Amino acid sequence: MAIKPTDIEYGDLAYNPITGCQRGCPYCFARTIATRFGGHDGEQEPERPVIRLTEPLKLTRKGRIIQAPYPYGFRPTFYEYRLNDPADLKKARTVLVCFSGDMFGPWIPDSWIESVFLSLESRPGRFLFLTKYPQRYTDLARAGKLPEEDSFWYGTTVTGPGDAFFQAESVHTWLSVEPVLEPLGPSFPDGDRSVDWAVFGAETGRRMLKVYPADSWIRPAVERLQGAGVPVYMKKSLDGVWDGPLVRELPWTTQTLNV
Ligand code: SF4
Repeated sequence: MAIKPTDIEYGDLAYNPITGCQRGCPYCFARTIATRFGGHDGEQEPERPVIRLTEPLKLTRKGRIIQAPYPYGFRPTFYEYRLNDPADLKKARTVLVCFSGDMFGPWIPDSWIESVFLSLESRPGRFLFLTKYPQRYTDLARAGKLPEEDSFWYGTTVTGPGDAFFQAESVHTWLSVEPVLEPLGPSFPDGDRSVDWAVFGAETGRRMLKVYPADSWIRPAVERLQGAGVPVYMKKSLDGVWDGPLVRELPWTTQTLNV
């Protein structure tokens, strides 16, 4: 089964029917992984900017033939054959969907996104989506293509107070404030309606221009969210940044799960 355990601390499993991204964020961890484990045994590289695969490609590594995890590195790729994998989900878990790229980037056709949604409808668990292109959620919703499943959580990644994010009454929304690149300020997150959950994290890795946040960069935002009753989750990367025990709240302990 291609749905595998994840190292991301608030998730249980990772499901990646779409990988890759064209955005080019300098701190991107997903790109580092995909580049490191990229490649396949074939010779021809398609010229298209996005690639659709109907069957796995092979990769020979250290004398062993394996299924290539990222045959085209970080180029946007749709692994259509993985859409059956959620059928193996038997109990409610937290599944991170396409965190190895951005499945809502403008280069991804609606039909691919709809296929991923369809593969998860009525499956047990909760499914977290994440993007730096929140307008795509709005566009999909206007087109009647954004499912209002109780198990779907639509997240936006932001790194500072000026970044747009997705809010909606009819679906679960959340924020991944990671990496925090600047002080968030006392009115973060701005908007008429708040989100249903917020995750905070600092930059990890060894990038030369790595940003080290301070407690004062996030404390006003955390207090604002908690004052509004929004659960907050701090990743371990905030150890030594946040002055106190890390807050680790999960919103779905009170949710009705699709089990
Ligand atoms: S939008 Fe996300 S996946 Fe794309 S480059 Fe930036 S961090 Fe990486």
